[in-house]
Amino acid sequence: MKAYVNDETCIGCGTCPEVCPEVFHMTDEGIAHAIDGEIPKDVLGKAKQAEESCPVEAIDIDED
Ligand code: SF4
Repeated sequence: MKAYVNDETCIGCGTCPEVCPEVFHMTDEGIAHAIDGEIPKDVLGKAKQAEESCPVEAIDIDED
């Protein structure tokens, strides 16, 4: 599974890297970015929690 952040929707609230820093970080532009590779299995729950915590639903977790 992979995580994606819609950079046009993200308002830069900083929640996702707080909930799951293994997958999300803030860029110099002040928006969130997800790691390019597969989400490590041991942090999948936290990544999904971050997705649910996003106030503008900018995060997508690809279930493939
Ligand atoms: S939680 Fe949503 S709005 Fe907040 S930084 Fe992450 S992607 Fe952006």
